[in-house]
Amino acid sequence: MTERILTAAEVLTGTAGEVIPDGAVLLRDGLIEDVGPAPDVIGRAPAGTPRASFPGARILPGLIDVHVHLVFDGGDDPVAALAALDDGALALDMAGRARRLLDAGVTTVRDLGDRGGLAARLRDAIAAGTVPGPRILTAGAPITVTGGHCSFLGGQADGAEQVRALVRRQAADGVDLIKVMVTGGHLTPDGPSSWDLQYTVEEVGAAVEEAHRFGLRVAAHVHSREGVEVAVAAGAHTLEHCTLLTEAGPAAGPDADEKLIRTIAEKGIFVCPTFHGGMGALEARFGADVLRPWLEIRRHQHEQGVRLIAGTDAGVTGVGVEEYAEGLRWLGRAGLPADAVIAMATSVAADALDLGGRTGRLRPGLDADLVVVDGDPRADLSVLRHPRLVVTRGRFHLPRAEGSLPWD
Ligand SMILES: [Zn+2]
Repeated sequence: MTERILTAAEVLTGTAGEVIPDGAVLLRDGLIEDVGPAPDVIGRAPAGTPRASFPGARILPGLIDVHVHLVFDGGDDPVAALAALDDGALALDMAGRARRLLDAGVTTVRDLGDRGGLAARLRDAIAAGTVPGPRILTAGAPITVTGGHCSFLGGQADGAEQVRALVRRQAADGVDLIKVMVTGGHLTPDGPSSWDLQYTVEEVGAAVEEAHRFGLRVAAHVHSREGVEVAVAAGAHTLEHCTLLTEAGPAAGPDADEKLIRTIAEKGIFVCPTFHGGMGALEARFGADVLRPWLEIRRHQHEQGVRLIAGTDAGVTGVGVEEYAEGLRWLGRAGLPADAVIAMATSVAADALDLGGRTGRLRPGLDADLVVVDGDPRADLSVLRHPRLVVTRGRFHLPRAEGSLPWD
């Protein structure tokens, strides 16, 4: 029986606005045993339970990145870098990135584009405690048309029957969800453009139906309005990007795509805006005006009741895995309240991944996934960048080289 108490100036439970001043969390055998005001938690714990105090710090649930690509290196040309690696070298790189995600406070990721089933192998190794890293949900190789967006990852399927067959194969291989490239994207040389449709409603619907047979959800990569309409009509569970992009740029403003946005909100479909640290470089290069429409569509979607979730697209060009908190700061810059952003990174993200019963909140019975950060993320989201302590499924991880725990 291993018990530990952590106390801090405040405990943020992950539910927007739920704050416990002078709070404590009792951990026991990888689970959260108790959460509440420090004197109460300490009083209920067995006498002599080791305790670490973090005055001035906040404890909150481990952060969740709902959109990563562990196979990509986040450099100038991730596709070429990937092509140069055999599976052995790639697996080691991915393990390194998993550890850096933990350094950034990320205790759960959803990998939406893998090669050769390596993310599933890493998922299992991390769960077994062989290597450090976050909990991984993997979609395997994204399903795409021949020559389509990210087809080099190996998930090509044309027509509803091939799509069904691929879903069945991926389910047999042990994926946690299915990813479908409904439109093109910018990463694929000579591939379709972001606003080009790759699949019909019937084809995406075949993926959704087949996935449901295996209890799996479908994440839809979509940029254009047409693509979003197809994904929504087909019953996709999450929309990745959902930029409502046209050849002329993002369709922003209160009048744009009003009915579609209301439908997404009413159906409770989750939307991942893939905001990330690379946005700062874009702003520096092209100016703040260029990013404004991209920020506006997210504020608008949030105000219309769309359930946004935090994911970075980590691994794609210029987006490192350690940039997670920077993406949250950009959600704040879009005008979203910090409390809502923290929920998007914890409780709402967990619900989107069907993990609400395991992680995303500080609540007795859930896995011991948490971060301790100096300062107050509700006043400044960037304090989430450098956590003092990360606990993942009860395992303690110290991100800073000089770190040590202030045990009593
Ligand atoms: Zn992606």
